[in-house]
Amino acid sequence: MDGKEFHDWSLRAAEWGAAYRASLRDRPVRPPMNPGAIFDSIEASPPEHPQPMEAIFADFEEKIVPGMTHWQHPRFFAYFPANAAPVSVVAEYLVSAMAAQCMLWQTSPAATELETRTVDWMRQALGLPEGFAGVIQDSASSATLAAVLTMREKALDWQGNGKGLAGQPAVRIYASDQVHTSIDRAIWVAGIGEANLVRIPTKGRWRAMDTQALEAAIAADRAAGLLPAGIVACVGGTSTGGTDDIAATAEVARRHGLYLHVDAAWAGSAMICPEFRHFWTGIERADSIVFNPHKWLGAQFDCSIQFLRDPASHVRTLAIKPDYLKTHGHDGIVNYSEWSVPLGRRFRALKLWFLLRAHGLENLRQMIRNHVAWSEALAARLAREPDFEIVTEPMLSLFSFRHRTPAEADSDAHNLSLVNAINDDGRIYLTQTKVEGRVAIRFQAGQFEATEADVAGAFDVITEIARRTA
Ligand SMILES: *Cc1c(COP(=O)(O)O)cnc(C)c1O
Repeated sequence: MDGKEFHDWSLRAAEWGAAYRASLRDRPVRPPMNPGAIFDSIEASPPEHPQPMEAIFADFEEKIVPGMTHWQHPRFFAYFPANAAPVSVVAEYLVSAMAAQCMLWQTSPAATELETRTVDWMRQALGLPEGFAGVIQDSASSATLAAVLTMREKALDWQGNGKGLAGQPAVRIYASDQVHTSIDRAIWVAGIGEANLVRIPTKGRWRAMDTQALEAAIAADRAAGLLPAGIVACVGGTSTGGTDDIAATAEVARRHGLYLHVDAAWAGSAMICPEFRHFWTGIERADSIVFNPHKWLGAQFDCSIQFLRDPASHVRTLAIKPDYLKTHGHDGIVNYSEWSVPLGRRFRALKLWFLLRAHGLENLRQMIRNHVAWSEALAARLAREPDFEIVTEPMLSLFSFRHRTPAEADSDAHNLSLVNAINDDGRIYLTQTKVEGRVAIRFQAGQFEATEADVAGAFDVITEIARRTA
């Protein structure tokens, strides 16, 4: 592709992107599924000779787009949002064009310094105290892995990276059963082993870790010669928004000298609104906090911020510093590759900077307040229908419900087929989960461009299809 073609196709791509966004309301949220059809439509062998861009682009429009699930669709109520506000997409076009490798300060000073600044903007926006530093990771999973590695190294007096775990006492990590599966994987990858992830029972409306049980488990492990290392707490768990009591958990961590990592990947965005901060009272006592601006806030994937109270122990765990990466003569500068597992890093701060400036915190707060209020209104409406039950109350904008069946034994199968029927219908998109072993349907409102009517309209789709399916 020569310079002229690059210019023309870039414009064409931008025009396509804008038209695509404008067309979303007319598309089914999830494509009608027929596994293998797209795979079969792609040539089995790579081309030997160049093909014209017109043909490539036509195939993209014909074969690929109809098979996409539209995550920016205003009636996407499944999983959690992965909002990419248009302004953050524009920033990503620019980042793509520059295609810089931002691993060290000197490999892109602006990327590093803008990252330091925007992460501190977010610290202030969330009401976290001064003293928390931070880094933009690719995902919450990476941040959690880094936190688990730091717990491990601190507990092993920094011997794990060098000597391995053989011959060491078993490192123990504590979490409830409401935490995301990225915690399990971090434990596996860190070599700690699933058997050493101690599940603490939960209680109360928000399904929080029972901190007495937590304390008892830590004491029992110590007495047995095991090595308690850290606690992973969650604010807004993925299944139903399960939320730990951070203040009480932090107190246990302090008493036992354990590292506390808080996973607020989804709910963290809501903490730009002071009235929701009661969900993480005590957060200033955490050692590490992860939240994803790439979920609710609108910074295009990937953009996950990890805040750290003591970056020194985090960097001591992760930094390698081979000779060819040393940036001599610039003491005191930050090399963010030492703060993460991957070496290479994209320029992720630009989209956050564009987003925060173009919308302003006040508009972003309003968006989140709307989503919470609309979701609560929908839950209240469903609760008034005799054939529906609310299974978990709204935690911010997430709740779960069930369509009642005459016999409880039929409930799981019925609600699963209901979710499938709703998603095949295409007007809205939902996902299911399990609550105390039984299927429940999740609903979350969080789309950047959703309106009150989009959320309220879900009521009609859900009740209509449920009564037809029953
Ligand atoms: C989405 C989510 C994750 C995983 O986030 P990635 O950035 O995709 O790794 C972890 N924890 C919670 C609570 C989440 O909602």
